[in-house]
Amino acid sequence: MKIGVLALQGAVSEHLDMLKACGVEGVGVRAPEEFAGLEGLIIPGGESTTIGRLIEKRGLKGPIAELWDKGMPIMGTCAGLVLLGREVAGCPGQQLLGHMDTVVVRNGFGRQRESFETDMAMPFLGKAPFRGVFIRAPYIARFGEGVEVLGSMEGRVIAARQGRGLAVAFHPELTGDLRLHQYFLSMGKNLP
Ligand code: GLN
Repeated sequence: MKIGVLALQGAVSEHLDMLKACGVEGVGVRAPEEFAGLEGLIIPGGESTTIGRLIEKRGLKGPIAELWDKGMPIMGTCAGLVLLGREVAGCPGQQLLGHMDTVVVRNGFGRQRESFETDMAMPFLGKAPFRGVFIRAPYIARFGEGVEVLGSMEGRVIAARQGRGLAVAFHPELTGDLRLHQYFLSMGKNLP
């Protein structure tokens, strides 16, 4: 199994390390030809405006949509959650991929709590709590019928799935916990 990590900006090497620890080949992708043979894609945290602009500039919107249309799983973490959505609240012009029917709020946890860590209940990953590393994290404010909420924090949706799309507001790659990556990898096998 070969999984791409969008390597335009942000927390790329940490995701590659997690994939390796899961026993899967991970490759950083930054050009259309590098998408050949991928069986999934991770869009890392970083700055969603920057990553969105680079996706357009480098002509990667098409290759990402092709992966999606082929039924390959795509996971967005933090800025990646923003990019997978269809709209940013209060910023209708931001360049997004729009594969998930979500409206997101960027930097949604306010100045006081710009960055924080906490143990969270994530029942879809099992009983043990999952360490949530939030760095200027977004949340999902509104979503369509096809979106399944997987986790919330202070009443805000911070983990969700829509078919082959998985979006989390935190940074699973900054913990040693492989469960979210393993769940993502299993999505590929369970899709119709
Ligand atoms: N606040 C950033 C954005 O909206 C996301 C931060 C992150 O990925 N850690 O793009």
